[in-house]
Amino acid sequence: LLALQQEIEGSVVSYPRSIPIAIERAKGAVVEDVDGNQFLDFFAGAGVVNLGHTNEEVLSYVTAQQEKLIHALDFPTENKLSAIQKILAHLPEELRDQYKVSFGGPTGSDAIEAALKLAKIKTGRDTIIAFTGGYHGMTSAALSLTSDTAFRNRLTSLTPNVHFVPYSYCYRCPFKLDEANCKMACVDYLRNILENSHSGIPKPAAIVIEPIQGEGGNIVPREGYLEALVKLAHAHDVLVIFDEIQSGFFRSGEFLAWMHTGAVPDIITISKGIGGVGLPLSALIYRKDVEAWGPAAHIGTFRGNQASLAGTNGAFDFVDRYNLNEHTKKAGERLINGLKALQENSAYIGDVRGRGLMIGVELVKDKKTKEPFPALVKRFRNECMQRGLIFEVGGHYNNVVRLVPPLIITDAIIDNALAIMEVALAESES
Ligand code: PMP
Repeated sequence: LLALQQEIEGSVVSYPRSIPIAIERAKGAVVEDVDGNQFLDFFAGAGVVNLGHTNEEVLSYVTAQQEKLIHALDFPTENKLSAIQKILAHLPEELRDQYKVSFGGPTGSDAIEAALKLAKIKTGRDTIIAFTGGYHGMTSAALSLTSDTAFRNRLTSLTPNVHFVPYSYCYRCPFKLDEANCKMACVDYLRNILENSHSGIPKPAAIVIEPIQGEGGNIVPREGYLEALVKLAHAHDVLVIFDEIQSGFFRSGEFLAWMHTGAVPDIITISKGIGGVGLPLSALIYRKDVEAWGPAAHIGTFRGNQASLAGTNGAFDFVDRYNLNEHTKKAGERLINGLKALQENSAYIGDVRGRGLMIGVELVKDKKTKEPFPALVKRFRNECMQRGLIFEVGGHYNNVVRLVPPLIITDAIIDNALAIMEVALAESES
């Protein structure tokens, strides 16, 4: 099946080149291939099936909705109104009244496009600040904010006026400083751009940042960073867009990852997990005072698919019913502690980090020099896959094991995955 698809699609297939399986079915945190092999899914569609594959409770909302109404363009429906109310109800209480919700289309990239449009219309400016290691999608403007040149360099032109600045990546501080006394040089770098007319960069419309960098290697920025960034941006009348497409929808142990911090953004993009069971949907959550759309300023055939919205409603109810945030925090701690124990016995695990169940393990040739070791990550991923565990690889140097399992994983599954990783690591190190 895999060979057949590759023959038909040619070079278009991407993930099966590194995880060569053809999938038949999936349930909870387990994926089964066409040959009946089962894998623990610590990939979860890069943070899509947060509530587990084919989650029956959520699926029941979708099935009931599908019998009633699937497509309604962007007409109001009770289903949609309820999804909007649930999104707002899960924001911090004191902020709920200040935001509104608009559905952006089926994919994360759609939401990014919408957010950029809104920020540019609102400010009348068109410069955007983005971050090294950032990933925001593959449509033209979203790709313009995605830093990896491997994705960009075959296109002769992208959306202009995007400038990349360093992310708060303390394990590999771009300024070679120590987190304890760096005084947030990364924020000062940005300050210089905003304050110095000789920076050559016009005043931006917005700063677009992932509150936890996902494809960039599950990097949690240092404490105080997001707060300082927002404060700086607002002092210069620049909007802040938090891209929560991967870090959001409860992955970090809060609805949105920024809710662990004191930073308050102007626009938030969400997608991936929000369709509940993997149905496509994205949304913008934005401050009412940023509103700048006129009628029909942002339209689209698939804005707010009713089946996906039913998935959203089911997902929020599921999260609340089972107090999933607490579970995610505990499960994340267990996984991180297990990984840190592996780190002690390995010469190659340079860094273990994360928040909730968004965890990155950085493999290096030498813990002191921190030289990235992408070849070892490849071997490790393969050894894990042979033993029934799949995950995605990412990072600024393709040397980070990215663990983003469904949030419903049990202790037994975590321990099982850790046991697989321990053996696979020994095998790939030898
Ligand atoms: N932003 C972030 C942070 C993402 O992780 C992704 C997807 N990996 C996107 C945007 C793009 O979403 P999509 O693939 O649905 O267009």
